[in-house]
Amino acid sequence: MAVEQEPTFRESVDLMVDRALATMDLDAGTQQAIKSCNSVIQIRFPVKIKGEIEVFTGWRAVHSNHRLPVKGGIRYASYADQDEVEALAALMTYKCAIVDVPFGGSKGALQIDPSKYDRDALEQITRRFTLELVRKGYLSPSENVPAPDVGTGQREMAWMADTYKHLHPEDINYMACVTGKPVNHGGIRGRVEATGRGVEYALQEFFRHPADVGHAGMSGTLEGKRIIVQGLGNVGYHAAKFLSEDDGALITAIIERDGALINDKGLKVEAVYQYIQEHGTIKGYPDASFEADGKVVLEKSCDILIPAALEGQITVENAARIDTKLIAEAANGPVTFGADAILRERGITIMPDAYVNAGGVTVSYFEWIRNISHIRFGRMQRRQDEMRGHQIANLLEEVTGFSISDKVKKDVTSGASEVDLVRSGLDDTMRLAYQSMREKMLENGRVNDLRTAAYVVALEKVSRSYLDIGVY
Ligand code: GLU
Repeated sequence: MAVEQEPTFRESVDLMVDRALATMDLDAGTQQAIKSCNSVIQIRFPVKIKGEIEVFTGWRAVHSNHRLPVKGGIRYASYADQDEVEALAALMTYKCAIVDVPFGGSKGALQIDPSKYDRDALEQITRRFTLELVRKGYLSPSENVPAPDVGTGQREMAWMADTYKHLHPEDINYMACVTGKPVNHGGIRGRVEATGRGVEYALQEFFRHPADVGHAGMSGTLEGKRIIVQGLGNVGYHAAKFLSEDDGALITAIIERDGALINDKGLKVEAVYQYIQEHGTIKGYPDASFEADGKVVLEKSCDILIPAALEGQITVENAARIDTKLIAEAANGPVTFGADAILRERGITIMPDAYVNAGGVTVSYFEWIRNISHIRFGRMQRRQDEMRGHQIANLLEEVTGFSISDKVKKDVTSGASEVDLVRSGLDDTMRLAYQSMREKMLENGRVNDLRTAAYVVALEKVSRSYLDIGVY
């Protein structure tokens, strides 16, 4: 297939879904109902910046509202368009279903290069965009809840929540209108790193299944595995940091916009990240060799390739040269439909985006629950758990006559903090979701790759809710 014949991002997602639908028994009408994007709004609004009026264009797509609220990030990017927003909204529907997060799928974007504006201008633009979204019914705690994505973060979410609060002071749940907020403005600990942490948990779970590891041509654990990461943004940075620091994997290359760093002995992720913060580039980083053409490094030999940047990075043009055993899609849509076929044909295992990067929305779900329940997780039982732990430790000492070391005592008596609970909930979610995809492959002979399995798991859940409620 020639490069120009590749489908668009949205078509690519639909074609992948079609592969899954072909293994299922769903009537054509239900298939169509699930696949179509329910609504999409395009907004144009003027903002006066330093005396000059500028008109901005933004979108918010609702792919499926079989569950409410619908959920998904808002990205700020100069390349944003409606096709991309619809594709990303569809991915959110399937993502939420795979990890059992009871939300429909949505996504938004603003066509803007945020690096060209100062903080005040961005605040003005964000508040105005939020106003339009709220007025048109595309942002509220019960119906549509945005979150950070490429080009946005805690700061933008705080502005959005504050704008909504001013418009709806009577809404007691106003804090739940967006997730990914700063912790002191209704956010939850562990949300910032959640997507990267989810990537780590997904890979840990993969390596708990020796048959799957063997099928991918590897053995053992994550320790010592050579990993290439594309993109050191929020997701790539945290995933690479945790995989190297906690699991002993070697980050042998990091690909960024302005080139790539290579070190076969393993890069120090935190040092690279700090270097970028300081210098605005990876160029000149001392402890690695530099390659100006990042695309070439994507094809360098490794055990695990983690594309954590943007969509459409592995295409029919370079798929035949990708030299890895496992691809963990930390970005949304990094592998095109055509590339996916080539990679599968070549026996490369792909852990799909809708599963691998679902950690973000999973912890967003925890944040949303925290906001509507108006209480921090663990607040009621932490001390109670600690007391119970002390009682058991004392009893053990009394009955056995042995004294328990202070370190062990501390471990068994300390109650879980909010971030402990968030991590445990996320870990559990990622484990169970992987197991459900795996079981699908074992039980359905027509499903033999993880992406199709992920979509079948999601489509079964979404179709069940359509069929239970009926269409009206
Ligand atoms: N933007 C993230 C994603 O693509 C997070 C969405 C959310 O938390 O709602 O999954």
